[in-house]
Amino acid sequence: MSLIVQKFGGSSVADAESIKRVAKRIVATRQAGHEVVVVVSAMGDTTDELLELANQLVPAPAGRELDMLLTAGERISMALLAMAIKGLGVDARSYTGSQAGIITDPQHGAARITEVTPGRVREALDQGAVAIVAGFQGFNRGTGDITTLGRGGSDTTAVALAAALGAEVCEIYTDVDGVYSADPRVVPSARKIDVITSEEMLELASAGAKVLYIRAVEYARRHGVTLHVRSSFNNNDGTLVVNPKEGETVEEPIITGVATDLSEAKITVVGVPDIPGKAAQIFTIVAGTNANIDMIVQNVSTASTGLADISFTLPKSDAQAVITALTASQADVGFDSLQHDDQIGKLAVVGAGMRTNAGVSAKLFTALFEAGINIEMISTSEIRISVVTRADTVNEAMRVVHSAFGLDVDEVAVVHAGTGR
Ligand code: ASP
Ligand code: MG
Repeated sequence: MSLIVQKFGGSSVADAESIKRVAKRIVATRQAGHEVVVVVSAMGDTTDELLELANQLVPAPAGRELDMLLTAGERISMALLAMAIKGLGVDARSYTGSQAGIITDPQHGAARITEVTPGRVREALDQGAVAIVAGFQGFNRGTGDITTLGRGGSDTTAVALAAALGAEVCEIYTDVDGVYSADPRVVPSARKIDVITSEEMLELASAGAKVLYIRAVEYARRHGVTLHVRSSFNNNDGTLVVNPKEGETVEEPIITGVATDLSEAKITVVGVPDIPGKAAQIFTIVAGTNANIDMIVQNVSTASTGLADISFTLPKSDAQAVITALTASQADVGFDSLQHDDQIGKLAVVGAGMRTNAGVSAKLFTALFEAGINIEMISTSEIRISVVTRADTVNEAMRVVHSAFGLDVDEVAVVHAGTGR
């Protein structure tokens, strides 16, 4: 008997009707002869609503209490789903993250899974029941407290359980039919990808594709878990995210997908003395704020001034802390001024075939030029090229680039709900 983990996002369990639909689907999988472990997110926008409620009380709620509050969302959906399945005549039991053995570090709001001890889940399966586990939550042994894994973290719960239980596949049910070559909400001609490597998926997720949570993809890659991203609204095959072994080949299109990200800002340190140690000094200060920086560009200093400019991108929410820290060290570092720009958009093209094909950057830059879109920063990795443009041109950029690489299809992608989760 093979074991399948099925994860349902908030939009798939948004109301009683949806929960019934999902329950039927789980029962069908069970009756087809599989052992089934289900991971659920909180219903619809519950997590956002709880957060909003907390913020009406205090500006920065205590991490421990916030995690207590937010984990209640998944507890509601897991119990309702178990009831619905039992109502269809199949045994089901719900478990909180800690009951299911999701052990994490103590970091509230962004805990990492350190160990999975799914004894009770295994027991339920052995007794023929479907096990329903609350996503997004865990337990720290040291503090004895409940933690959460970061927004969107139910994907990680599902992958961690799939790895620990040796599941055949971890199915991630969502409101689109799979992973697309671009966000189908912006590019209706985007194509569904049938198979993608976890390496490419990781690049797409870190470039802003929201269909899968980045930590979940990392975890799947590390533990060799195969993911199947598919719609909870139909039975179509979705996208397989695979981990090819050394020597195994997967068909590699030059470009697999295009992703955009509007959540970043750009900071430029103007007039930095062009002498050894200045970049080290600046980025040590930045690192001290825990900001997660992404692209870095330093221009060539002109001989006459001996000064350079260094620009980098980072999440908008980290920008203020970095500006404060750099300003405090301005005299010490010796730069002229700081510029903060939160109207940037990032676009990335990803494809493993880039390694062996020339001309990808030329094609990308030509497509942007022909659309009259100015490029402000460029960075590359082995299988990704990223550019920064003005925020209000990034959707248009995605459409023209998608079409320049021949990714458009005639069939219009179906988006069932609106959130992509
Ligand atoms: N309910 C949590 C959130 O909205 C976790 C998840 O959806 O995966 O972030
Ligand atoms: Mg959610």
